Amino acid sequence: MIIPRNSLEALKFGQWFKLICGASYQDVSKVRNLSLVYSLAGADCIDVAADLAVVRAAVEGIAISQTIAPAFCGQRPWLMVSFNDGADPHFRKAWFDIQSCPTDCSRPCERICPADAILPVSPSLSIGLSQVAVPGVLTERCYGCGRCVPVCPYGLLKEHAFTVAAGDVLPTLMPYIDAIEIHTQVGRQNEFEHLWHQLAAYIPHLKLVAISCPDSDIQSNAIVDYLTQLYQLMEPKPSQLLWQTDGRPMSGDIGKGTTRATIRLAEKVLNARLPGYVQLAGGTNDYTVAKLRSLDLLSPPPSTSGQEQTETPSIHGIAYGSYARRLVNVGDSPLEKRPEQLWQQVQLAHALVSQIKPNELRKYQISQFLKQSHCSAQTSATAIPP
Ligand code: SF4
Ligand code: SF4
Repeated sequence: MIIPRNSLEALKFGQWFKLICGASYQDVSKVRNLSLVYSLAGADCIDVAADLAVVRAAVEGIAISQTIAPAFCGQRPWLMVSFNDGADPHFRKAWFDIQSCPTDCSRPCERICPADAILPVSPSLSIGLSQVAVPGVLTERCYGCGRCVPVCPYGLLKEHAFTVAAGDVLPTLMPYIDAIEIHTQVGRQNEFEHLWHQLAAYIPHLKLVAISCPDSDIQSNAIVDYLTQLYQLMEPKPSQLLWQTDGRPMSGDIGKGTTRATIRLAEKVLNARLPGYVQLAGGTNDYTVAKLRSLDLLSPPPSTSGQEQTETPSIHGIAYGSYARRLVNVGDSPLEKRPEQLWQQVQLAHALVSQIKPNELRKYQISQFLKQSHCSAQTSATAIPP
């Protein structure tokens, strides 16, 4: 089997793995460590919020991965940031005032939050103590999954939507990033076009542009007509274009069935044979690759000549969000200072990455790094102090 040498080859060969940190996830310590772990595991792209602090954290994680394992150099993942052309579940934060919560509430919001973003109650925060609202959500950790909102028995949780001002932030972010993603929805041609005009000057300098869109109606082909219109109004055309079929947003960690919606949507987009690659997202998890294989939707292995195979439309990549983030335990402190834990997490991450991107050599190298880190930890634990 031919192993892709870089992100572009992975995309062409149908072995593209993207880690989604989240368009609104701003926990810089976690983003840094996730970027480190998934870079070492062989990710092709890391998708983060269009926020300078977050982007720098990801850059740092990727850079550290290259110093730790020079053998993996040359396989640096691309860094992507996300924009939206209107209201979108990926661009929102939950909010409530702790002081409004009845003291006897069993706090279902805290239990359901996958990001530990709901602050624990402080006894000093009794009702009416302060005139000013006391936010109950740790904003940087909230990635807008929305699960807390319906579980509050008092309806106190609200969603605050936001739009990233692409024209303002891109000049600062361009030195760090390789790709952008635009989140859109069927029927927003005008909003998309407006955003595209703000981005147009940057497009030739990007390695890839991804368009992320959910289905509007599973019975109709409206999304295909919409994406076709978007393609027509994209000028200049991006050097690489990726259609991200956003099935059930931010749900991959919920269960096996969440992967169905994105596969169903991907089949629709594939059948339209739009120019560009098709990549899944939204509900992807440990079952996604097996399901794609059973449906014969994955790209066949590349031929020895390295030519991509284009005759049958197939999925060229998978993006994993909540499932990939929760799969590993990266903590908040620099993970490279705990080498054994680092390589344990890399091994877990690689088990997911290798589903779409098999690489026996990297698997072996990771196991050797883990063995070495374990031996070093044992030696330090038994060393007799002078
Ligand atoms: S929206 Fe999701 S991540 Fe944010 S606080 Fe609610 S449950 Fe947590
Ligand atoms: S469930 Fe509602 S009332 Fe209870 S702690 Fe959460 S926000 Fe407050």
